[in-house]
Amino acid sequence: IFPDSEDAHDILDVLEEYLEELEVDIHTNCPINANDIEHELNERMEPVFLIENDKISLNASKIVVSTGGITYPSTGSTGDGYRIASRMNHSITDIKPGLVSFNVDDFLLRSLSGLTLSDVELSFKDKKKKISVRGDALISHFGLTGPAVIDLSNLLIEKSKFTILDDSLNQKSDEEIEELELFTNKITIDFTPDLTEEEIKEQITKDTPDNGKMSIKNYMKKFLPANFVDYFLMKINISPSKTMANITKKDKNKIAENLKRHPIEIESLEMDLAKVTIGGVKSKEIDSKTLQSRFVDGLYFAGEVLEMAGPTGGYNLQIAFATGYLAGQEAANSLK
Ligand SMILES: Cc1cc2nc3c(=O)[nH]c(=O)nc-3n(C[C@H](O)[C@H](O)[C@H](O)COP(=O)(O)OP(=O)(O)OC[C@H]3O[C@@H](n4cnc5c(N)ncnc54)[C@H](O)[C@@H]3O)c2cc1C
Repeated sequence: IFPDSEDAHDILDVLEEYLEELEVDIHTNCPINANDIEHELNERMEPVFLIENDKISLNASKIVVSTGGITYPSTGSTGDGYRIASRMNHSITDIKPGLVSFNVDDFLLRSLSGLTLSDVELSFKDKKKKISVRGDALISHFGLTGPAVIDLSNLLIEKSKFTILDDSLNQKSDEEIEELELFTNKITIDFTPDLTEEEIKEQITKDTPDNGKMSIKNYMKKFLPANFVDYFLMKINISPSKTMANITKKDKNKIAENLKRHPIEIESLEMDLAKVTIGGVKSKEIDSKTLQSRFVDGLYFAGEVLEMAGPTGGYNLQIAFATGYLAGQEAANSLK
C-alpha cells in the first residue's frame, strides 16, 4: 500500500492528476455539515441532494460521504460524517479511538523512555482466553507505545463497551472520556515468548554452577535489554547485586513468572495519538457490493467513516483506497 518513494505526497500527486484530467471541481476549506444537506426526489422520482451553506450551493444526484473518523481532528475529520449518516437514518456504532498508545502511571518505567522491548508478547485476559500480540514495544515518556502496543490496543478497545460520542453524535468532553472504562486495565508482557516458564527455570538452574559469582543483574541480560534489568529486579524485589549462587528457588520462580507475565496497569489511553477511529456507519445498512446506503438511493460511504477498522500495517489505508474506489465507480456507473 505504501509507495516505493515512501512519500505520501506522491500518492496525492497521482490523485490530483486524475482529478485534473477528469476536470473535477475541487472545493477546499468548505466543511459540509449534516444540516447543509437536504435529500428529496425529483419529478422522475430520482434522488437529489441539495447541498447549501455560506460557501457552496450545488445539486447532486449521488454523494459519497468519505469524511473520515473523529479521533485525529487535525486531519479535518470531526465526525460530521456520522451526523450526515444519522440524518439519513443510518445507525452509528460505538465510536472509539483505535491504534492508540497506553498511559502508564509508573515514573520508573517512564524514565526508561526510548527503550525498545524487542519481540515481546503483550496480552490481556478475556475470561480464560488469552488475547495477545507479538512484536516490538517501546517505552515512552507517557508509558507504552510501539507496534505491538498499538495493535493490542485495538483488540482491547474493541472488547470495551463505550463510545466517545454523546446522544447528538458530538464528541464527549475530555473529562467524560477520561472516565470511560476499558475492558481491562491489566496487561502482561512476555519477554521470552519462545521459552516456557519451566524452560526458564531449567536454564537458570543449568547456568548457576558456572556463574555462581555473577550478579543476577548481569545474568538477566540474557533475557532482557540491559537497561531494563534494574527496573525488572526492583519490581520483583530481588537485589541486583545478589549473586547467582545465592538465588533461591523462590527467586527463580519469581523471575520466570515475571519474565512470562510481567504485569502492567494501563492508566488511560493516549487519545491524542489515536491513528484510527473504531466504529462508524453500521456496515449492515450498506450494500457491501456497491457501498450504497440501503436506505437512501444515491448515498454512498467510503473510508474511515465506515464501521470497520484494521490493525497497523497499511490496512486502514487499504480500506480507504478500496472503498473509495468502489463507491466512486458505483456512483459514477449508476449515472451512465
Ligand atoms: C498519524 C496517523 C498515522 C496513520 N498511519 C497509518 C498507517 O501507517 N497505515 C494505515 O493503514 N493507516 C494509517 N492511518 C489511518 C489512515 O490514514 C486513515 O484510516 C485513512 O486516511 C482514512 O481515509 P479517509 O479518506 O476515510 O479519511 P481521512 O483521510 O480522514 O480524510 C477525510 C477527509 O474528509 C474531510 N472532511 C471531514 N469532514 C468534512 C466535512 N464535514 N466536509 C468536507 N470535508 C470533510 C477531511 O478534511 C479530510 O480531508 C494513520 C492515521 C493517522 C492520523
